[in-house]
Amino acid sequence: MKKNIAVYPGTFDAATNGHLDIIKRAAKLFDKVIVAVLVNQNKKTIFSVKERLKHLREITKDIPNVEVDSFEGLLAEYMKKKDSCIAVRGLRAVSDLEYEFQMANTNRALNKEMDTIFLMPRARYTYLSSSMVREVYSLGGRLQDYVPEIVEKALIKHYKK
Ligand code: ADP
Repeated sequence: MKKNIAVYPGTFDAATNGHLDIIKRAAKLFDKVIVAVLVNQNKKTIFSVKERLKHLREITKDIPNVEVDSFEGLLAEYMKKKDSCIAVRGLRAVSDLEYEFQMANTNRALNKEMDTIFLMPRARYTYLSSSMVREVYSLGGRLQDYVPEIVEKALIKHYKK
């Protein structure tokens, strides 16, 4: 039988417990989940692709059916290469919907086989975003309950510089 492979694409700058929550949910639903870091030269990030891959690999090391990878260019093309037709995205609030709807439709125009599945995180992660995390740590605050330990250490190191 064909395996259900899902791809969870994102920037993951920084990876949060909200991302991890979605990864865990997806890992229960699909045979394999590929967490795919988008390499976008035009987007300024605080962590390099290599660092983001390291963080994601560390926080998912105990989930056997999760693989961490990076990709450049169109998600629709990357999915074909990985033999996957399911993209996973997290939906936090209605505010995410408009952008996600646009992306899902564009991706479908590019790859007819593809569907996007939206998963809701635990309520406590609904207001959590990577940008909020960066903002708090840049101002010297901490959000230990919302970011994995390896990410928290990296954030502190990054903003100490
Ligand atoms: P992108 O630049 O692709 O939006 P992000 O790393 O910000 O990359 O997010 C990747 C995916 O994870 C998106 O679908 C986003 O909605 C989702 N996501 C981000 N933060 C959370 C969270 N706290 N809970 C659930 N999903 C989240």
